[in-house]
Amino acid sequence: MPEKVLISGATGFIAMHTVERLLAAGHPVVGTVRNPDAAEKVAPLRAMDGADPLLTLVAADLNDPDPFTAHADVDVIFHMASPFATDMPDPQRDLVDPAVNGTLAMMRAAAANPRVRRVVLTSSMAAIMDEPDDEVKTEAVWNTRSTLRRNPYYLAKMRGEQVAWAFMQAENPAFDLVVLNPFIVIGPSHTAVLNPSNGILAQIINGSFPGVLDLAWGFVDVRTVADAHIEAMRRPDAEGRHILTANPMSMADVCAIIEDLGYGAKMPKRNLTGGLATALIKLASYTQPKGVGSYMRTHLGRSPKIDNSKSQRALGIRYSEPRETIRDALEDMARWGHIDAAE
Ligand code: NDP
Repeated sequence: MPEKVLISGATGFIAMHTVERLLAAGHPVVGTVRNPDAAEKVAPLRAMDGADPLLTLVAADLNDPDPFTAHADVDVIFHMASPFATDMPDPQRDLVDPAVNGTLAMMRAAAANPRVRRVVLTSSMAAIMDEPDDEVKTEAVWNTRSTLRRNPYYLAKMRGEQVAWAFMQAENPAFDLVVLNPFIVIGPSHTAVLNPSNGILAQIINGSFPGVLDLAWGFVDVRTVADAHIEAMRRPDAEGRHILTANPMSMADVCAIIEDLGYGAKMPKRNLTGGLATALIKLASYTQPKGVGSYMRTHLGRSPKIDNSKSQRALGIRYSEPRETIRDALEDMARWGHIDAAE
């Protein structure tokens, strides 16, 4: 009998791919959403193969005092809900509080339901690294630099993960905790909503960047991230944190792929990767919204060094070629009208 699963934030970009896999494998799924009556938003979930009768949608908001206990009579929990944005009017209230309080609420809900055997938490590479530097990032590393002023989304993800591990240590509950730390998740979406991570590609293509900057990113296919959640649930020996990313690539390499795939018509081609251009763009970043500005100042001119071997070893993850993931993401974004179709 397939195990019953609770997944928070079921309407999310990564969550929908995960729900699809759970239903295909016959798991009864309870998905939490902010508003189950938002017909248009939940339509792609309800339309999935197996959703009737396997999927139940319930209301839960991370800001509620106890959003999850009533729904946690399940074997496994995926805690994915978290605000995902770089800029919010009040980063403590809008990013950190829901991330931390939501995770704590889920941990308490799991502890209150003896049936729960495992919680899989969707953390982030942001909990490991604020800005790239010379250190090779492994699962042993923690982000210690983000603050409410500097990359506040990173701070929220770091604190959100920290409280989960602190809960495990303090309460020694009957369930275990497995954490996934994806870098930038891109790929096809079940909805017309443009996820901020796919949004990076759309911004490049639509000309939001002044040219090719000295930036580098680690991308991971959303379907790989969904697979990793399933593996994290299924593998009895899964433990600890797992970085999820293909090898980092420069913006120049990303732009070359975009060009080659025929999406480069509006893309500024100026090469701004030199030292002087980078210094000027850092200066100009002070005119950007706070979150964007701090991201630029901490990431320009640096390439992340990441060891992704644990995910391959422990979860059997095989990273697809970045070109394939970028191609599928772009085809899908064109389908939803976020970018022009390839020429
Ligand atoms: P989405 O924004 O698509 O999904 C986030 C989900 O969280 C949505 O379902 C959203 O609900 C829900 N949510 C946000 N705030 C609240 C709240 N106050 N109460 C209840 N639910 C809330 O993002 P992703 O799918 O990309 O992200 C899923 C998880 O993966 C997040 O934890 C994110 O931090 C993490 N992650 C994402 C990465 C990426 O590149 N995309 C990289 C690393 C980690 P609603 O639909 O109502 O807004």
